[in-house]
Amino acid sequence: MADYDYDLFVIGAGSGGVRAARLSAMSGAKVAVAEEHRVGGTCVVRGCIPKKFMVYASEVAHQVQVAKGYGWSGFDDVRFDWKTFLEKKDVEIARLSGIYVRNLSNAGAELVHARAELRDAHTVELIGKDRRVTADKILIAVGGWPSVPEFPGSEHAITSNEAFHLPELPRSVMVVGGGYIAVEFAGIFAGLGVDTTLVYRGPNILRGFDDDIRTHLGGELEKRGIKLILACQHEKIEKTPSGLLSHLTGGMTQTTDVVMFATGRSPKISGLGLEAAGVAVNDEGAVIVDEHSRTNVENIYAVGDVTDRINLTPVAIREGAAFAETVFRNNPTTYDHECVPIAVFSQPPVGSVGLTEADARHIHGQVDVYKSTFRPLKQTFFGGEDRTMMKLVVEAKTQKLLGCHIVGDDGPEMIQMAAIAIKMGITKPQWDNTTALHPTAAEELVTMREKFVSPDLGAG
Ligand code: NDP
Repeated sequence: MADYDYDLFVIGAGSGGVRAARLSAMSGAKVAVAEEHRVGGTCVVRGCIPKKFMVYASEVAHQVQVAKGYGWSGFDDVRFDWKTFLEKKDVEIARLSGIYVRNLSNAGAELVHARAELRDAHTVELIGKDRRVTADKILIAVGGWPSVPEFPGSEHAITSNEAFHLPELPRSVMVVGGGYIAVEFAGIFAGLGVDTTLVYRGPNILRGFDDDIRTHLGGELEKRGIKLILACQHEKIEKTPSGLLSHLTGGMTQTTDVVMFATGRSPKISGLGLEAAGVAVNDEGAVIVDEHSRTNVENIYAVGDVTDRINLTPVAIREGAAFAETVFRNNPTTYDHECVPIAVFSQPPVGSVGLTEADARHIHGQVDVYKSTFRPLKQTFFGGEDRTMMKLVVEAKTQKLLGCHIVGDDGPEMIQMAAIAIKMGITKPQWDNTTALHPTAAEELVTMREKFVSPDLGAG
């Protein structure tokens, strides 16, 4: 081996980079990790974790309504203090970030607080440190960054990055986009009492999810007070004395305190030196990798959101682990990107694994569909409005379960378990052979016996 400063240099201390660095270092490699922001990456610092805290904070409003339904009282003066929440949230994020730092150190990896840029396939410049280092292997794990379309006034819009640090809770917000972040933040704001409008360019939110789930969730969001404006886009944002005036297609206008764009995230490759190292990217700027997360440059690898495969924390972690196994443990390992369970922490949340009905029909032809929409027991007690929806998609010929989709309380918790069975290739008779657990909402999953017959499709 040529004489390099490190066996592995990781750029980016997020979920994927940290896992790869730790496992590689624990295998005996000399490893350094560079991070220009706080250690922990999107998930810990400005994504999953602070977002989940916001969801928890926000859900309390709904729980208060449930509590009233069960006979509790004394909520007349119930209030939420945004600043208190932010302070506590920041303390907890700092604690979690500290754990990441300690884990790296305990594994024997060196952490460099600096921006790193590639100068060639083995050389990394540490900006502001007046230092260049070389490494045998380089792992790019820089993640993604919110992208906002350019139009007049788009500079007035915030993204999720800023939403975690708003100095004041706005009175009104317009959230733009129909994906994960948009529906999650619309729910957060609405729960916290903010007058919330969700604007999406398509006909139905959460493109790519099962159509029934999308429609059902849209209805539930409206019940929670979120105004949905569909098939509509921004033309202009004007700053006025009363707030931000959004001009939408079709001549519609609305003024809100805040406009938040959640219109996707792009690989964070700007200025990274990928050209200097000869690393190829696709049209969207994602680093192109093979099944071992190796780029077109023999010694450079990439994992996580920068590769734009499935942009989820556990996926980045598994890609990072597979990289370390392959490169530093002499155990070529690939991560299977099939059948990854997904959750949207909207209110109510969505849990989903496997194929949508539309994709299943496209791939497998005939499928059996089972669906159930019901008022959960907790709600029936006081006449609550929430409705849960569950759906199973089964290959007609083999009876193999292809997909399971849930909108409702604890949907993500249930889907983790469903994912085990579906990944193992369970059939519907085997699934149904599981005894229901009573009284739960989950029992409905194993008691759906009647095939849904679509009026359009007929049986099958
Ligand atoms: P998504 O890709 O999920 O959604 C982006 C949304 O913005 C889509 O509805 C898209 O519309 C819309 N959009 C894109 N470009 C424009 C535009 N120019 N004008 C108007 N609307 C536009 O991205 P997010 O930002 O919500 O999240 C990024 C990723 O982060 C997710 O894909 C997911 O992988 C991850 N994530 C996961 C979470 C979880 O696991 N719970 C939570 C948050 C994020 P269209 O559908 O028409 O393309």
